[in-house]
Amino acid sequence: MESLNTELLSSHFIHDIINEDLKTGKCGSKVHTRFPPEPNGYLHIGHAKSICLNFGIAAQYGGLCNLRFDDTNPSKEDVEYVDSIQEDVKWLGFDWDDRLFYASDYFEQLYAYAVQLIKDGKAYVCDLSAQEIREYRGTLTEPGKESPYRNRTVEENLDLFERMRAGEFPDGSRVLRAKIDMASPNLNLRDPVLYRIQRATHHRTGDKWCIYPMYDFAHPLSDALEGITHSICTCEFEDHRPLYDWVIEACKVECRPRQIEFARLNLSYTVMSKRKLRELVEGGYVEGWDDPRMPTISGLRRRGYTPEAIRDFCERIGVAKAVSTVDISLLEHCIREDLNKRAPRAMAVLRPLKVIIDNYPEGQVEWLEADINPEQPELGKRKIPFSRIVYIEQDDFMENPPKNFYRLAPGREIRLQHAYYVKCVDVVKDEKTGEIVELHCTYDPETRGGWSADGRKVKGTSHWVSASHAVRAEVRLYEHLFTRENPDDVKEGEDFKANLNPNSLQVLTSCLVEPSLAEAVPGDRFQFLRQGYFCADPDSRDGKMVFNRIVPLRDSWAKAQKAGK
Ligand code: ATP
Ligand code: MG
Repeated sequence: MESLNTELLSSHFIHDIINEDLKTGKCGSKVHTRFPPEPNGYLHIGHAKSICLNFGIAAQYGGLCNLRFDDTNPSKEDVEYVDSIQEDVKWLGFDWDDRLFYASDYFEQLYAYAVQLIKDGKAYVCDLSAQEIREYRGTLTEPGKESPYRNRTVEENLDLFERMRAGEFPDGSRVLRAKIDMASPNLNLRDPVLYRIQRATHHRTGDKWCIYPMYDFAHPLSDALEGITHSICTCEFEDHRPLYDWVIEACKVECRPRQIEFARLNLSYTVMSKRKLRELVEGGYVEGWDDPRMPTISGLRRRGYTPEAIRDFCERIGVAKAVSTVDISLLEHCIREDLNKRAPRAMAVLRPLKVIIDNYPEGQVEWLEADINPEQPELGKRKIPFSRIVYIEQDDFMENPPKNFYRLAPGREIRLQHAYYVKCVDVVKDEKTGEIVELHCTYDPETRGGWSADGRKVKGTSHWVSASHAVRAEVRLYEHLFTRENPDDVKEGEDFKANLNPNSLQVLTSCLVEPSLAEAVPGDRFQFLRQGYFCADPDSRDGKMVFNRIVPLRDSWAKAQKAGK
């Protein structure tokens, strides 16, 4: 694991709680946390916040952090998710050493706890249907009704529960419930279900079990069995805390993890629930979990985000109780800051326009020099070939430019970055369509490197590539996946998919890039001059180059900060 600079980590209310616990000796003298995903989808940037928090706190206090899969729902889970989650946590820079656990490892132990609860008169087998259980449950304003099976004898309960395990009853016909309080103002305490019958093959225990513990039973006990001192979770579990405390108490477990809730991360223009992300994948709205438009860790990785930028983002957003939505431009700002320091520069022309430099000797090639990264002069220079025919960006030329257009136009001179001043002397059009096919320019040999000895200034600078050296590439440009800041803001009868952005992906297939980029391998990141930060995609193969734009250069977050917004 790369060492985390804990000094930079800001302080928040969870630190206050832990400091107090350490002072009073409430958690012993150690801190032990865990990241507990359900393996029913890929991790997203919200999970990254939880991962950074749990592993970060353990590191700060010299404690430990486990990775535990809360795998209690076999019908939704898969090894594909188990594998991807481990890959993503590692990639983010965290290490659980030998502390990889599964709630399913505790199934036998959890069953024993359930039997103990029955013996203590704290749990009973209930024959109501799921629908009936819901009806009996009552509402926030009305107490629930007791199940007619609530007062079965211990012997009958033990017998039925054993037979549930033995597979004597059909799925859904019976459940084991905690006997707590049907009139509790907290609905979670109204005799919650602890076990259900479900004939589903589990990705780890196979067909060994046909009853599975509910999350609310397995989760607190798994924490306790692992000796977790601080069980950090998101606010929607606040209402479950009394139930978790009841479970721990009733099962007479020694360890008492302290649950601390924090507000989950929401990002503008983004959906974060796994259910919705799965819907996008399964419905073919995106190409997969690692589609570069997805807020998943694997999507962000493919897009070109670095673990450092994601960790920096998680640090900057802080930890609080109050729910808020973070501006996605902050995430984009973090990757720009990171890559500005690290990414080599290159020139890439996304929509090429041919330029012939009439007075440049035919067949001549000059290898011009430019910084690999001006932020790191020690990296030295790269060589860029210049020749008689170059390509510039279509956008960098206008035949009849408006007042505020400073780039190339007939009769006007601009700088080709790192190369020469060139002046447009002619525009050639397709006779039939009127489309501009090429420009003719002259260059000033006295301006080598892009600077004029006589102090003559030009207003525009363009990037370019040499026609005979450039490498063809496909470039994928992205916009937000949704058109609305809050994708769930929809008209009646619609769902979040109604806000999908039809322009979220634009594929440009005839881009031309600097020859040095022919060697790029998937995952390599660059700043393409004036176009943004890009990452070579795994689709680059057999000589075909594909680049994803991570972000354009314009930093709307930094701009808003400057403007004091
Ligand atoms: P989702 O609601 O997106 O489907 P989940 O909470 O069901 O996610 P889990 O696999 O149970 O997903 O999550 C593992 C851990 O990550 C939990 O402790 C959960 O609180 C935390 N987590 C999930 N989403 C977020 C988020 N948006 N921000 C912060 N933490 C999150
Ligand atoms: Mg969950």
